[in-house]
Amino acid sequence: MARIPESEIKRLKQEISLQRLAESAGIALKRHGADVVGLCPFHDDKTPTLVITPKTNLWHCLGACQTGGSVIDWVMKAEGISFRHATRKPEL
Ligand SMILES: [Zn+2]
Repeated sequence: MARIPESEIKRLKQEISLQRLAESAGIALKRHGADVVGLCPFHDDKTPTLVITPKTNLWHCLGACQTGGSVIDWVMKAEGISFRHATRKPEL
């Protein structure tokens, strides 16, 4: 199978809003300075440790996960799928 072109990956990372992805997953986000914060869906979160930066379209979990990344990393983690599979998701 052909490799996913770098340009396509770049497009996904820029054009798909992480904030929208999170909100469509039912996560309530609150503005916090330049970021929006909410409960991390990837661990049992009691205080909002999920930070999304709309400007860079990157997310980070400051809690148990200690991880983060782009929309592709989000979908990979949310659905437990591979990078290749994530780039082919219809919502991306
Ligand atoms: Zn987390």
